[in-house]
Order: sequence, then C-alpha cells, then structure tokens
Amino acid sequence: MKTAAESLLDRDAGLLWHPYASLDSGALYAVAQAQGAELLLQDAHGGEHRVVDGMASWWSMVHGYCNPALDAAAHAQIEKFSHVMFGGLTHQPAVELAERLVAMAPPSLRHVFLADSGSISVEVALKLALQYQDAKGRPERQRFLALRGGYHGDTFAAMSVCDPVDGMHSAFAPLCSQQVFAPRPPAAEHTVGGDWLYDEEELEIWEAQTRRLAAEHAGSLAGIIAEPVLQGAGGMFIYPPRVLRVLREIADEHALLLIADEIATGFGRTGKLFAVQHAGIEPDIMCVGKALTGGYLSLAAMLCIAGVAQALRTGTGSAPSALLHGPTFMGNPLACAIACASLDLLTGSGGAGIEPAQAPWQVQVARLERGLRSSLAPARALDAVREVRVLGGVGVIALHEPAGVAQLSAAAVERGAWVRPFRNLVYVMPPYICTDAQLQQLGAAMTGAVNQVYGG
Ligand SMILES: *Cc1c(COP(=O)(O)O)cnc(C)c1O
Repeated sequence: MKTAAESLLDRDAGLLWHPYASLDSGALYAVAQAQGAELLLQDAHGGEHRVVDGMASWWSMVHGYCNPALDAAAHAQIEKFSHVMFGGLTHQPAVELAERLVAMAPPSLRHVFLADSGSISVEVALKLALQYQDAKGRPERQRFLALRGGYHGDTFAAMSVCDPVDGMHSAFAPLCSQQVFAPRPPAAEHTVGGDWLYDEEELEIWEAQTRRLAAEHAGSLAGIIAEPVLQGAGGMFIYPPRVLRVLREIADEHALLLIADEIATGFGRTGKLFAVQHAGIEPDIMCVGKALTGGYLSLAAMLCIAGVAQALRTGTGSAPSALLHGPTFMGNPLACAIACASLDLLTGSGGAGIEPAQAPWQVQVARLERGLRSSLAPARALDAVREVRVLGGVGVIALHEPAGVAQLSAAAVERGAWVRPFRNLVYVMPPYICTDAQLQQLGAAMTGAVNQVYGG
C-alpha cells in the first residue's frame, strides 16, 4: 500500500510543472504541515522529515507559517470580502497598505502601484519609466541600463533586464529587447563591524566603464535598474554600496530614472529596512514584493517619486496621463490586509507610522546575521567550499563547482533543513522568527550536506 504522500507525488509527476523544471523532474517532497519556521515533508519512500525552512518560501515567509497575526488578518478580511476589482473602486486594506509603504520607504517615494507579483511590479516600473520619458518629450528613450548578474523576474520585459548570459535571453532572444548591460560590480564583504571590504581599483575600473557606457547610450536610455547591494537569484552576490551612489550620479547626469528592485532585499533582509539605505541614496522608483506578503498571497508594489507621477499628469508626450497597467487582481484586499499585518509585525508599530528605535525586524535580522556567521563558519574549512558570505539574513556557501541540487537538498533534508541550491550556491534566507537553535541547525545541515556530497 502506498501512503497518501507517495500517491500524491505519483499523481504530480508528469502532470504539474514546477519552477524552472521539466515535467518529469522528479525528486519532490510533499508538504504535510507548515508551522512557524518548520515544514513537515514526506518523501517518495514513506519517510517524514521535520525541517527548518531555510528558503522562507522563496524569501517571503518572514514571520513564520500559520502566524497568528497574519491568520487573524486573513480571517477578518475574508469575512468582509476577499476580492473586488480595483478599477473605479477602493477599499481599506489597499489604502492602509499604501500608507504604510509610503511611511516606511525612503521619503521621496510618495505614490504606489499595487501589482500581483514581483515580476509585474518590474514590468510596471519599466512602463512608468518609458511613459515618463515620453511625457518629458524624450520618446526615443526606450532602453534600460542594467547590471550583469541581475535578476528582475520572468515576464518578458523583466527578463530582458536580467543577466543576458545567465538569464533566459538565449531561449527568447527575439522577444528580449536589447538593453545595455554594465559589468557586474566588484564583490564586497560586509564585516561584523559594518565595514564594506572590496577592491578599490576594481571599483574604479567598473565605475569608469559604466560611466562611459551610460554616456555612450544616454540618448536611448530611459532608466537604470539594479538590485541594491545584493544580487539575489542572479547569484547571491554582494557588491559595495558605493556602486549605488555611482548609479545615482549617472542617472542624475543623464536624466535617467533609477529603479531599485528591492523585491528580494526589502523589509530588512540585508540589515537595512531597504538596501538602498546602505548607500544613503533614494531611487526614483522602487519595487517591493516577497517579504511584503508575509509569504501568504502573491502581492508586490511599485513606488515612485512625486516628480515622476507629476510628469505623467502634465506630460506633453504621446502616451496618455494614465499609467498603462491594471491586472485583474490588482490591490487584492485579502493580500493587502495580510501585508498590512506583516508590515506591522516588522515595524512593531501596530499601525501606519514611524518605527520605534529598535524595530522587531532589526533585532531579528541582527540575530539571523550572528547565527548565520557562526553556524556557517565551519564550512570555510571544506575543500569543496570557495567562499562563505553573510549579509543580514542571507547566508551563502559558494562551492568551487556547480551544486547537485537534488543530492544536496536531500542531504540537507536528512539533517533537518530545507534548502534549494542553484548554480554553485547553497544558501539560506531564513524566516526572521528563526531561533538560535534553528539557525545552528540550518548551518550544520548545509555544511554537513556539502561535506557528504563532496567529501569535504
Ligand atoms: C523574486 C524576484 C523578482 C520576481 O518576483 P516574482 O514575485 O517571482 O514575480 C524580481 N526581482 C527580484 C530581485 C526578485 O528577487
């Protein structure tokens, strides 16, 4: 007799696609329960594994599964209404969420577009930049300057600004419009003392190349897009905040809009509420998602400065003053109500407003950073390991060779951790509520899995 989980895995095989996978990619676990920072997984052989979720459901589930405050927000809203269209209608959850976002974000960001996923918020940011340039009488500015190594989503425009080699450009070349790519900035290390270590000379070379590239293409560029300080899905790569100050200067010099994609980094993950704050700059447009949702329902947002919104209102270009986007589930009340509760937990404010001196996220992320630094340190001794990087609530083991995803994640599951390696990277971005013991378990499982699979 097969267990229920075994037959579920059988029924999934060949029926459902999973992310970036072939139909028959196999090697799945069934989730039987999710509670706090833990998942209860069932494998294809009747085994059960209680694991700490090092991925926080792709970096979104910061407050834990079945969080009482988020559950209560969801229940309260579902009793009222789960969804209404946003065209011509509004509701309390959307307005409250936008107020909270504007209160938390860098001060010049004043206006909010609610999108149904991170990729869509990037699409909307790019559209807005094009509409802005058109309204300013520069309709020929149709392209974007992006960084090599970046990731901004899977829809076509978002994909076009992802890394042109590691992204999916080759598969969809004709539909990925030709953007301008600056080199990947030099790597940086963020020390316990808060210093950024990097090669000064490499940074100067990068800066000179990027300034030259921007000057050369300025006439056709609408904006610059970057993930501040941490390139996530493009390689868990940390670069110096000074890069962002250079991008800000370039944007100002050539009348480009600077778009900060904070979908992975926002809401404290890198040790600042927003990663642009490491550099002390403000973007013109910012995208947020993932942690915004508390890991419950798909939602993202794009924020912009008053000048950009004003240009659309009063512009002289061919595009109308409306921002040309409006998904069916825009501003979904259920997702917004949960996001409001999620932001309140982060800031400890219990409502829209200023955060206290030591907001809950600051205490939590500082603890994650300490725990990851100590629990991943032993991995440095393994021959297979090239580098260990930690920034805020992000812990990365970079291997010398590409990671065997199925083997490594199975070895980690055996040791009580859920990780999903990619390329040569075994990394975690754990829930903010992880205890010290759970962080130790994650680090030990990652190190143990690498040691098992690569023999040290
Ligand atoms: C995850 C991510 C996206 C895409 O968000 P989805 O909600 O998956 O569409 C875009 N940019 C960055 C930096 C991300 O990490």
